[in-house]
Amino acid sequence: MTHKKDERYYYKQLTEQVRSKFKCFEVKSAVGTEDVGQVDVAGVRDIGGYSSGQIELLVFEVKKAHEKRRAIAHFGRQIGQTLSYSIIGNRCYLIGLFSPDEEKFSDEQKILANHFGVGLIEAELDKSGDKVRKFAEVLTSNYFNPPVRHKMDKVLSHLGIRQCCICRIYFRKNRKELQGFGISPKVLDREYLFSTHKYKQVFICHTCATRFNFKQKKKGEPA
Ligand SMILES: [Zn+2]
Repeated sequence: MTHKKDERYYYKQLTEQVRSKFKCFEVKSAVGTEDVGQVDVAGVRDIGGYSSGQIELLVFEVKKAHEKRRAIAHFGRQIGQTLSYSIIGNRCYLIGLFSPDEEKFSDEQKILANHFGVGLIEAELDKSGDKVRKFAEVLTSNYFNPPVRHKMDKVLSHLGIRQCCICRIYFRKNRKELQGFGISPKVLDREYLFSTHKYKQVFICHTCATRFNFKQKKKGEPA
């Protein structure tokens, strides 16, 4: 019998699978926001065309099949949990970890997942239970538009991605060209709505910063 390890053991391998199969340019495991909770794996991919820099945030919940039941236990609950991540991600997937001799998702489970728009991935382990041998998307997730945009932005920032507040393009924040500006309602004559925070951070990409001649404020300089 295949001995499956704790789900977290497979995060690294699943991260690599997500990177290659979903063509994600950035993937991380165990990321999230305090209120919505942590997603097991999150990846971001570029879906922009000729004139847009659109991206998609993909979020994954990992569950191994119950060894005695030989299926994902409490399937409805797992689908519900995965669906709750549509608050932060554009596509939500449940990854089932199965040993080679276990039945994968049943037709009934696929119908249920399809009803909620949750995607399904069958990850098959090798006999030893150490390696993810196959990784197949058997049901594509719906496209969700997260209703609370800043929650998605938070996850993106954990992945190192920021959006330029001028041209709306996404860029990696750890690159040298990042221009980050802190703005505080205390010192500016604009009133900021929709925020309980005293301080707001906005980001400007290198191109906009150069073209619009933005300069980062030095310490001690008046605002
Ligand atoms: Zn820009």
